[in-house]
Amino acid sequence: RGFLDELVDAALEDSVVTDDELDRLTRVATLLELPIQTVTSRTLAYRMTSGLLTLESGLRVCFTGDGAVDLNGRPVTREELEIACVTAGLEPVGSVTMKKCDLLVAVDPASLSGKAQNAHRYGTPIATAGAFLDALRHHRELSVVSVRSAGVASVCERCGDSWTASRRGRICKSCRTRSGTGRRHAAPRDTEQTAAVDPVQLITCVECSRPSELLQDQTLSDARCVNCC
Ligand SMILES: [Zn+2]
Ligand SMILES: [Zn+2]
Repeated sequence: RGFLDELVDAALEDSVVTDDELDRLTRVATLLELPIQTVTSRTLAYRMTSGLLTLESGLRVCFTGDGAVDLNGRPVTREELEIACVTAGLEPVGSVTMKKCDLLVAVDPASLSGKAQNAHRYGTPIATAGAFLDALRHHRELSVVSVRSAGVASVCERCGDSWTASRRGRICKSCRTRSGTGRRHAAPRDTEQTAAVDPVQLITCVECSRPSELLQDQTLSDARCVNCC
């Protein structure tokens, strides 16, 4: 935990988190089985960019949090928000998904609720309830923030390589290519894995100490090269 915090400190030193830094932090946390939240929450402010969103009819809006107030400080219920939404031709939706939600209206824009975390993951714009109501009332563009996703790190089950992407995977790209998963009549998974891993497993021959490939039916601790078999 302390180690990861130091790495995050180093990445934040110049007040910028580059994609490379974010990628590395995410992978280190995953490889060391450290809580990824350390990376995502501490870099959040540096991954935010602000922008303007036009509230076009048909825009799908999700709400999160209770205790919303408008820009004059008057309390607004969730129902009032949804009515304002529908009246303006927008569509309230119940969850933040990659393809079926265009805006998250949050009582607390720094919230880390499940909906907010999904918005961060998918880059869904986020606005405060007050700004949302004001933009609707005055037919203005809405000020929003978008969060650049930290991605999800995966560790390859075959070669131990790590990478980040929008979703978790089990096998890295090069291992997938090597085993030919893309071919039309793929072998059953177990056979495929054995066939893919064995040819590239390197050993040191216990007889002559020369590097060699692991042959079939050999174990790592008692492996011999072709000459010494
Ligand atoms: Zn791999
Ligand atoms: Zn040998």
